[in-house]
Amino acid sequence: MARTEKAKAAVEVPRDRYRALRERLQNQRDEILDMYKQDLRAGQESADDGTEDIVDRANNAYNRELMFSLSDNERATLLQIENALRRMDEGTYGRCSNCGQTINLLRLEAVPWARYCIDCQELAEKGLLELEAS
Ligand SMILES: [Zn+2]
Repeated sequence: MARTEKAKAAVEVPRDRYRALRERLQNQRDEILDMYKQDLRAGQESADDGTEDIVDRANNAYNRELMFSLSDNERATLLQIENALRRMDEGTYGRCSNCGQTINLLRLEAVPWARYCIDCQELAEKGLLELEAS
């Protein structure tokens, strides 16, 4: 944290890269959601009477059910993506959630939903970080 000029909340990811990353996050989120919708539709077809009712119920239960229907891995990824998109909205994307350092752009290109810099990620993987939820 050497530079202290105007603590602007702006992201330090170049604008074009930022947009590309945002698109990738959104696409990936849509992919996971689409997978889920296909499962849901398949389930509906097997129980094919009273369609509207089933659709209503499906919509109501959508969010709850979504989280249960996804595999742990998909769910974890989806949550991380949602988190990253939220940080983009808040203008904190690209900064480590733990130490506040700018996350290396190459790291973001590899893992667009990364929330920690490489150092803190290591700590997190060793279970030495305690802010998994925020
Ligand atoms: Zn960090």
